[in-house]
Amino acid sequence: MASYILKAKKSLGQHFLHDKNIADRIARAANVKSCNVLEIGPGPGSLTKSILEHGAKKLISIEKDRRCLKELANLATKYNDRLVLIEGDALEFNLPKSKDAKLKIVSNLPYNISVPLLIKYLQQIDYISQMTLMFQKEVADRLVARPKTQNYGRLSIMAQSLCDVSIEFHVNKKAFFPPPKVLSTIVIFRPKTKRYTADWKSLEQVTRAAFGQRRKMLRSSLKTFMFDFNVLNIDPKSRAQDLSVEQFWSLAIDLEQRINP
Ligand code: SAM
Repeated sequence: MASYILKAKKSLGQHFLHDKNIADRIARAANVKSCNVLEIGPGPGSLTKSILEHGAKKLISIEKDRRCLKELANLATKYNDRLVLIEGDALEFNLPKSKDAKLKIVSNLPYNISVPLLIKYLQQIDYISQMTLMFQKEVADRLVARPKTQNYGRLSIMAQSLCDVSIEFHVNKKAFFPPPKVLSTIVIFRPKTKRYTADWKSLEQVTRAAFGQRRKMLRSSLKTFMFDFNVLNIDPKSRAQDLSVEQFWSLAIDLEQRINP
């Protein structure tokens, strides 16, 4: 591996994948053949190389660390026509707005900004056909959490409202340099074709209030919204973590109709 890896920057969440089998497994899971792909943070390029070897039609890779771009120069020469390297901040990069040529996003995400990046892409889900992303295991557990479990919360509801979310596999710390403190997990997001109709603002309001006081019963934590729980077929004595994603949306739709029309 490149020598500069010894100086991996913590501030950029740099844990570089050096196990080619894992990089190949991610590219296979992402099913990139003949697809347009966006990769966040190629680093020295192990995953980038696998994505190209697995037949991506075009790969756009955005990297903030200039040192990595120098390392990627060889790859750029070899795959000149298929690899586009962009030096920049992925948080500021908006996806091309094409519903006909949707992108697949594949990334071993920088952990320090993995959630803001995910939220950004969920907000642009119309332009994405699949996301195959590496998170710290505890974030992955929140993303796939089901009701009545401790990890279930606003992130689970947001992700599962828009996508079918599944854990693909876990990756041992030893696959990275430097090794992270915790286990990593590959999560796949497949956008749903049928989505909920209410405004996100209403869902935000309801979930924030409910999970902000997650130990309280809904009749108390959601008191200000004056829901008729009987009509909505929701037990007012239940707590935030008891409600399914569908039930949160029925609250959001009701709120929108009465208060945020
Ligand atoms: N893909 C490489 C791999 O698997 O070995 C590197 C993964 S490392 C976990 C995260 C990468 O994201 C680093 O190369 C880091 O420099 C880059 N990065 C961090 N913040 C970024 C940002 N805001 N925009 C683009 N890249 C960023």
